[in-house]
Amino acid sequence: MAIVSDAATTSSEEQRRAAGPQVWPPGTQLVGGSANLKGSSLRPFFIYNSLSRSVEEFIALDRDRVTYYSCGPTVYLRQHLGNMRSYIFADTLKRALEFNGYAVRHVMNITDVGHMTSDEDAGEDKVEKTARAEGRSPQEVAHFYRDLFLADLNVLNIEMPEVICAASDHIADMIALIARILERGFAYVAHSGVYFDVEKYRGANRRGRLSRQSLDEQHAGQRLEHAPDKKSPHDFALWVLNQPTHLMQWDSPWGRGYPGWHIECSAMAMKYLGATIDIHSGGIDHVPIHHENEIAQSESATGRPFVRYFVHHAFLVGMEGAKISKSAGKFPVLEDLIRARVNPLAFRLFCLSAKYRSELVFSIDAVRAAERNLYYLYGFAASAPVEEADSPWTQAYRERFQAALNDDLNTPEALAVVLEMVNKAYRDNDRRICGTLKQFDRVLGIRLAEQFEYLKRLKVPADIQALIDERAQARSKKDFGRSDELRMQLQARGWEAKDNRDGTSEYMPRWN
Ligand SMILES: [Zn+2]
Repeated sequence: MAIVSDAATTSSEEQRRAAGPQVWPPGTQLVGGSANLKGSSLRPFFIYNSLSRSVEEFIALDRDRVTYYSCGPTVYLRQHLGNMRSYIFADTLKRALEFNGYAVRHVMNITDVGHMTSDEDAGEDKVEKTARAEGRSPQEVAHFYRDLFLADLNVLNIEMPEVICAASDHIADMIALIARILERGFAYVAHSGVYFDVEKYRGANRRGRLSRQSLDEQHAGQRLEHAPDKKSPHDFALWVLNQPTHLMQWDSPWGRGYPGWHIECSAMAMKYLGATIDIHSGGIDHVPIHHENEIAQSESATGRPFVRYFVHHAFLVGMEGAKISKSAGKFPVLEDLIRARVNPLAFRLFCLSAKYRSELVFSIDAVRAAERNLYYLYGFAASAPVEEADSPWTQAYRERFQAALNDDLNTPEALAVVLEMVNKAYRDNDRRICGTLKQFDRVLGIRLAEQFEYLKRLKVPADIQALIDERAQARSKKDFGRSDELRMQLQARGWEAKDNRDGTSEYMPRWN
């Protein structure tokens, strides 16, 4: 089968846009999408596809098994909050698809070898650099930071992907993939490694499928490593050879060595999800090099489109000014938030308060503002009639919530709908919205359902109850000075008061 050349891609993309959703392989029965979904609550889901640079309706190859790959961490240091935004985004996208009735198979890699300090093969292996600095083996370093990462996912209520795969466990798959690329003539063996032949793959106009940049634009301002035996400085390593000081090495048909970073994602994505996957996500920094290279390797090996929807999220920025950082210039990590006594799920809500394609400015105050919304929702959960059926008016909110999600994952709008519904429940004194809230929480992931259960079972300690009773008396006598004092006392002991318009008050424990 002919490889899709760059020129052919452009015209086929134009044709595809004219013809509607892309289907691969040809003749595949489409499932998913507005025309195909069964049931009245199912709606078209739109997402920005970096491949077409437009918001497209998502059409799954198989609605019962949407294939989704997201780039995971390189485990050489603790992931900072900027990294965690990425995993919250991937989790939210998956949850939003599930809310729409899709079953999603999500695969995420753990890079424990081959990711150099520069994304373009130059420098030192990141894991080995930490290992040398910390006097540990690369395996110890990788396992240590992997376990911290997985614990952070759990604290942020990020659902574990169906498959989490470490690069070092998949060396044989990478070798097999490299062999296929060589067989098809898109790579060559040199003394210092097996290299992907970028210029041959890209053809005459040499533009990338994803970045649309020429090779010179793509690498402008970057110091390219000029291994003397590379045909072109743009070629990248699939397998690195003859690096005797590198600690992690494996035998291959070309000699002892280790894989390049990009081949890891291609090999593992295709092993677990097939040659063509529905969705691949990652940070926008991956567009010009990592994802461009993943496409080149995968498609040259299989002759098929690698990814149908490439989805990229923007960064968390402005963290330099954050005072919670342990040392200046270091990005804060989840533990810093916990030390500042901020509920980690407030960070999750903070991330949802911005569109995923917008930069989000981090500050501890902004996360605390999100925490107020979190406790507002928890406070509602404390007093809500969980057993009662929802009021009919909640249906309109459910539809608006779904419409926001399906509009290119507009989470700030979805969140506004949730808060508006709770406001209305308070205002109209009709609190029969718990079923709907629990459904919303399947996407928000702020453990609201657990709150309903927890708060129902919660026993208020006698000394706290005494303060609460005294405050109720003060409020009934309109002694607001005393009431405020008691509020502060309760706060100091970890309990938040919320006063309702009807004169009643609610109390709930703060997190930790
Ligand atoms: Zn990747």
